[in-house]
Amino acid sequence: MQENLEEAKAGKRISSFGWAVADKKAHFKAMKFSRHSVGANDILIEILFAGICHSDIHSARSEWSDGIYPMIPGHEIAGRVIAVGSKVSKFKVGDFAGVGCMVNSCGECEACKKSHEQFCENGKSVFTYNCTDYFHDNEPTYGGYSNNIVVSEKFAIKVPQNAPLDKVAPLLCAGITTYSPLKFSKVKKGSVVGVAGFGGLGMMALKYAVKMGAEVFVFARNEKRKEEALKMGAKALYTTDKLKEVKEKFDLIISTIPTAYNPSVYLDLLTYGGELSIVGLPPTEVMPKISLNSFVFKANKRVYGSLIGGIKETQEMLDFSLENEIYPETKIITADKIDEAYENLTNGGGGGFRYVIDIKKSL
Ligand code: NDP
Ligand code: ZN
Repeated sequence: MQENLEEAKAGKRISSFGWAVADKKAHFKAMKFSRHSVGANDILIEILFAGICHSDIHSARSEWSDGIYPMIPGHEIAGRVIAVGSKVSKFKVGDFAGVGCMVNSCGECEACKKSHEQFCENGKSVFTYNCTDYFHDNEPTYGGYSNNIVVSEKFAIKVPQNAPLDKVAPLLCAGITTYSPLKFSKVKKGSVVGVAGFGGLGMMALKYAVKMGAEVFVFARNEKRKEEALKMGAKALYTTDKLKEVKEKFDLIISTIPTAYNPSVYLDLLTYGGELSIVGLPPTEVMPKISLNSFVFKANKRVYGSLIGGIKETQEMLDFSLENEIYPETKIITADKIDEAYENLTNGGGGGFRYVIDIKKSL
């Protein structure tokens, strides 16, 4: 850390250490690398915890498109600010801070001005890893499975000093990705909400929707986690082979499913005017298709996609989560167990908690 402080002070590149995959076989190995220097508006964060999102697995395995290797995934980052640039006003050294899926954007287009930075109309959304950093010589970005990160203060989320950082980390993606569509679809007391896929994102969708006063139902592949779902406030858990037996009509169904499935069966469960929000992103090879005809004949229902959430809404989500003590169920691991976690999350052994890497214990 001392070395990083000296580098920051001297305006030099920051030495970093992380866990990277070399190709789409996605086996993790330790790697030294460096990050851009701490600019006037940047902060340097010592990363303490990094969540593992299923998007990390899709990206590391090139399941959507060819990845940029070596790749250090991780966009659920929580840590402590150890240096600040000369113009930084939001943070001081010692503060807790979080970083989610983005580290920069143009800041000038309509979307950025509305704080929908994930949809930057100039194509300059810089995602936290596996992306080109348009603002730093087009170098690749490296994510949170590492010991530090340099980020523009605008893209860092304020985290209060007493917050449990291991639980905060997953909120920066799993939290915002589910909070955002619930707000967009105006879920309120009495809304009937379905959550398809009950993993890292699904459990957050369930907890938020319950807090917002909705009646929430979970759709999962099996009943293994029924008790947990009920404990978290679900009215019932239905298995996906029995959807025809479901009696409820839903105002909103959020699909967090990361594998091949048929979205039309969920469309059938919507009430008149109901909405199906797609957040799960299955691999391109097995990308689900939706019948346009069934769409037409299910008039007045809407299907929309939702991508994480903007920075302003991410701060709102974090404040809401802390105020209401809504946290993910987590399992803390060290970096040598990332390969195993990836296996578990793809073969049904994920257990429904969020794996979170304790970075300090891993070094
Ligand atoms: P997890 O692996 O934690 O959870 C996925 C869950 O879906 C598991 O519980 C799994 O069950 C379940 N599941 C798998 N296939 C089916 C199926 N056919 N029907 C019902 N349930 C199923 O993943 P995450 O929650 O981290 O991510 C989910 C998806 O969301 C990923 O595709 C990810 O890339 C995407 N994502 C999208 C974002 C966005 O902005 N739109 C942001 C973040 C993530 P089992 O335990 O049985 O395997
Ligand atoms: Zn994610």
